[in-house]
Amino acid sequence: MKREGVLYIISAPSGAGKTTLCKEVIDIFPNLRHSVSYTTRSPRPGEVHGTDYFFVSTGEFRRMVAEGEFAEWAEVHGNLYGTAIKTLEEYRRNGVDVILDIDCQGARQLKERFRGGVFIFILPPSYNELRRRLDCRNADSEEVIARRLQGAAAEIRESRWYDYIIVNDVFSTAVEEFKSVLLAERCRTSRVLEAVSELFDVQGSGT
Ligand code: 5GP
Repeated sequence: MKREGVLYIISAPSGAGKTTLCKEVIDIFPNLRHSVSYTTRSPRPGEVHGTDYFFVSTGEFRRMVAEGEFAEWAEVHGNLYGTAIKTLEEYRRNGVDVILDIDCQGARQLKERFRGGVFIFILPPSYNELRRRLDCRNADSEEVIARRLQGAAAEIRESRWYDYIIVNDVFSTAVEEFKSVLLAERCRTSRVLEAVSELFDVQGSGT
């Protein structure tokens, strides 16, 4: 059975646990990968070019924008991020399902430009819990945390137009819900019909 890959577009406010959730699901779910984006931000310790991101200069990124090479792109926290059309087409052709961990601006562009993507939003259970998680990271100043919480409110409002919302309260439950969405989407009639079209080539006498 040969089918086209599915694009899962995942967004969340910072602190909702999106990255950990995506990593876990990619580790345990067959035939699912993380789409590698382009970015102008510098690599963090341990990040590998071509695995975590394609790290490019602002000039190179701007050239790609001008030449229409991105399916979507956006400025997030002062850096540029984008998903190349070439990357998406390769996955789709090879029947590989991919997770695009991108912000709401990019997700909106994909919603307008492409058919067939599955849009999933990860929410924290409450603002108190979001604040607690951001505090626990210990990495950010009080000012940065306040800015992130304000940004979170705007992003949370965007969740309304996504196809699915997963509330990441108990992590193991969120993982199960995420897996269920992936499984259900693989069984969506339009996707399966395309993959097994030969079953319909035989003329029968039934209804
Ligand atoms: P980080 O720099 O922490 O890896 O990512 C920062 C933010 O950029 C995250 O919210 C992430 O979802 C978003 N991001 C990563 N790649 C892309 C992309 O290709 N396009 C868009 N629009 N956002 C992205």
